[in-house]
Amino acid sequence: MITTIQEVTQLLEQLAPLSYQENYDNAGLQTGNAKEEVRGVLVTLDCTEDVVEEAIEKGCNLIVAHHPVIFKGLKSLTGRTYVERTIIKAIQHNIAIYASHTNLDSVLNGVNTKIANKLGLQNQKILVSKPQTLMQLVAFVPIPETEKVLAALHSAGAGNIGEYSNCSFQVQGTGRFKPSDKANPTIGESGKPEEVQEHRIEVVFPAYLQNKIMAALKEAHPYEEVAHYLYSLENRNQEVGIGMIGELSEELSKDDFLNYLKYRMQLEGVRYTETDSIGIKKVAVCGGAGSFLIKDALRQGADAFVTGDVKYHEFFDSEGKILIADIGHYESEVFTKEIFYDTITENFTNFAVYLSEVNTNPIRYTY
Ligand SMILES: [Zn+2]
Repeated sequence: MITTIQEVTQLLEQLAPLSYQENYDNAGLQTGNAKEEVRGVLVTLDCTEDVVEEAIEKGCNLIVAHHPVIFKGLKSLTGRTYVERTIIKAIQHNIAIYASHTNLDSVLNGVNTKIANKLGLQNQKILVSKPQTLMQLVAFVPIPETEKVLAALHSAGAGNIGEYSNCSFQVQGTGRFKPSDKANPTIGESGKPEEVQEHRIEVVFPAYLQNKIMAALKEAHPYEEVAHYLYSLENRNQEVGIGMIGELSEELSKDDFLNYLKYRMQLEGVRYTETDSIGIKKVAVCGGAGSFLIKDALRQGADAFVTGDVKYHEFFDSEGKILIADIGHYESEVFTKEIFYDTITENFTNFAVYLSEVNTNPIRYTY
């Protein structure tokens, strides 16, 4: 049995749907033909020329990266920049490059869950949940068909709320309609008013599934015209959003926390701010450049905020109330490749998956 590149990318998109990427982002398939067979996968934080070289050596024709190598757009492919050279080399060797970026930053079990797990945080919650990612469907169904329609909606992904699945609500009422001369009604006759006992069913679902849910409704519902309403919800989605917050199993002194952080994240050093609080217990994290979340971490009572790429003036935002720890962009996200590795190997066994051994961090330290 063969597996196509598309089957692998679809699996990754079940975890991190592309529609959750930020509007400036460029996640998705960057080179390659999605219909081709996967012969091997190399997972990495960044896709560089050295990583493409590694893929060639290991016999891989799919590279899964966190950072999209084509990010700002390309106007030429002459080999002038490392981005152009990486793309040229990948295409010459028929290697597909796929990136799962800000979409993977925005889901449970993504980049920030990985950091929170490395730090052993308990009671994890998304730091800032994303608005307008949920919808509600209300549909009117003749009573004998209710179970069938609900089953179809659930299997398309509707009605999953936290740890609860197959969630719905229904009430019974009377539906009235008069089919036109051209109608082909399931119940009733053309030109004659009709009354049918129906259920009004309600389900909530992630907005990106809208087309799938509507197709399932139309397929399972017996009527030619399905009476329904679709609503965009303002409810915050607790499963989608940026950053993560949780608690250490025990309070640590500042020095112990910094040592623990260095040990767990395998750091050479940490840039951090002093804080008035004595101990560190509640910790917020955000992989990559997360300084835009400092105020949210403060508001939610975090004693420490772990991220990368913090600028000089942003450190002042700690106001002495939170320990901001800049552990480096690369260091905060390097374990992201384990997410790709675990997701793919748990679902496919007919090709090899490798963790890249290339250190793609362009930054070096000297002391
Ligand atoms: Zn990043």
